[in-house]
Amino acid sequence: MRKKVIAGNWKMNKVLSEATAFVDDVVGKVPNSDQVEAIVCAPFPYLSSLVEKTNGTKLRVAAQNMHFEENGAFTGEVSPAMLQDLGVTHVVLGHSERREYFAETDETVNKKTHAAFKHDLTPIVCVGETLEQREANQTMDHVATQVKKALEGLSDEQVANTIIAYEPIWAIGTGKTASSEDANEVCAQIRQVIKEVTTEDTAEKVVIQYGGSVKPSNIDELLATSDIDGALVGGASLEAESFLQLVEAGT
Ligand code: PEP
Repeated sequence: MRKKVIAGNWKMNKVLSEATAFVDDVVGKVPNSDQVEAIVCAPFPYLSSLVEKTNGTKLRVAAQNMHFEENGAFTGEVSPAMLQDLGVTHVVLGHSERREYFAETDETVNKKTHAAFKHDLTPIVCVGETLEQREANQTMDHVATQVKKALEGLSDEQVANTIIAYEPIWAIGTGKTASSEDANEVCAQIRQVIKEVTTEDTAEKVVIQYGGSVKPSNIDELLATSDIDGALVGGASLEAESFLQLVEAGT
C-alpha cells in the first residue's frame, strides 16, 4: 500500500514572516499518520528556518530546485550538498516553469535525480504535456520520454524511492483540472513505463502525484483513483487551512 504524499509548492511566494507563520500554524496539525506525508516546497532563503521549525515533526521541507554539481563557479546556484546539510528531505526537479523559463531539460533533470540520491534527498520529478501535445495525442509519448530520461541510470531501489509528479502544463495555475479519469490514465501509464524499465515490484512502490489546480474540493476524487498517490499543489497550498484540508484528504 503506497502512502499519499501531499506537497505544497509555494513557488516564488511569501516573505519570511509569512512562511514561518504558515509553518507555526500547520506544524502541530499535520495528521500523525503513516498513510500521508506532508511537504512544503519553500523558497531557498527560508529552508534553514523552516527545517529548524519542523525538526522532529511530521511536516517535511523541500527545495524547489537545485544544481546537479557539488560546488564550483555557478553563481546564484544552490548545490545538493547545501540542501542535505540544511536537513532538507525532498527536492522538486524539472517543474514545467523551470523547463520553460530556466532551460531545464530532460538531461539536467536526470543529472539532478542522480545528485539528489547521492545526497539523501528524495526527488519529486515533474513531467507533463502542453495543451498542443494533448490535442495532438502526444501526451503519453511525451510523458514516457520525460519519465525514462529522468530515471535513466538509477538503481531499482532509487527509482522506487523517486516521486513522480504528473502535471499537465495546461492545468497548472489555470483553474482547469484534468478529470480524475484522464489524470489517472496517465499516472497508470507512467507506472507501466516504470515497470518496463525496472520491475513490477519497483513500479508498484513509486509514488505518483497529480498536479494542476488541485484544491480541497477536487482532491478526494483524484486520490480515490488507482494510480494517483498524492498531489503537488501550487495556489491552494498557500493558505494554511487549505493546505491542511489537502493533507487531511490523504489520510
Ligand atoms: C504547481 O505549482 O506545481 C501547481 C500544480 O500549481 P497549481 O496547483 O496552482 O496549479
